[in-house]
Amino acid sequence: MARLSPDREKRGAVKNPERPDGTLAGLPPKNPDEARLQVAAACRILAAHGHEDLTLGHVSVRGPDPRDVYIKGKGKALGEVGPDDVVVVRLDEPDGYRVAGTHLETVMHTETYRARADVGAAIHTHPFFATALGATASSLEYLSHDALLFNDGVGLYDATAGLITTPEEGRAVVDALGQRRAVLLQNHGMLAVGRDIRWATLAALTLERAVRVQVLASALGKFTPIPEDELDVLSPVKYQEPFLDEYWSAWVRRLESAPEPLW
Ligand SMILES: [Zn+2]
Repeated sequence: MARLSPDREKRGAVKNPERPDGTLAGLPPKNPDEARLQVAAACRILAAHGHEDLTLGHVSVRGPDPRDVYIKGKGKALGEVGPDDVVVVRLDEPDGYRVAGTHLETVMHTETYRARADVGAAIHTHPFFATALGATASSLEYLSHDALLFNDGVGLYDATAGLITTPEEGRAVVDALGQRRAVLLQNHGMLAVGRDIRWATLAALTLERAVRVQVLASALGKFTPIPEDELDVLSPVKYQEPFLDEYWSAWVRRLESAPEPLW
């Protein structure tokens, strides 16, 4: 498991009896501090991988109380989000998503958690390559190991290119997502989900990588995709639960080794 930065540990901001060594795990958060740290860490990981767009894009996790969602507040760029920039919204109040300081599209997250009990984290960003694919009539091609993560396909929300600001629009995005890991928002960006912050981050970063390979391959020649009947065989071999802690820890180590203090 990745450790928190020494400063963070010294300040004792994370009191986690179940993880007394101060590790920042990517499993469902055990307490509010851990939920805030996970959101902030994922925002910075996404920024480090090219997902930043002004102060836009947001990450959320379902809290230790499953009625709570911890989500990046508005105002900061992904790369500068800290735990204090995370806002709590309630799922059991009809207007729970309308909390001061939240992004207008927070409702996309709350409707996702309402519809998908299996989702523990959600990410909405505007990455270049996935956004470009969502602006075409093309689909994701299975050209690489990255694409294998999406063996169930990728949804397409095409009702509007505008912001998702109402529960109705949020539900329509979730309908387009279905039971999949990601949905492209036409002319806008993408929404990726996972059972916890590790899997959601993996989906967001890997979708962008998969489309990037597709863009490069399209310039090089005719596609030779992975055969369709191999997708469901290869995907669970490539993407296994025991690998996820390793990936999450590697992302967090990179953050902690940054020259600037983490938060
Ligand atoms: Zn957006």
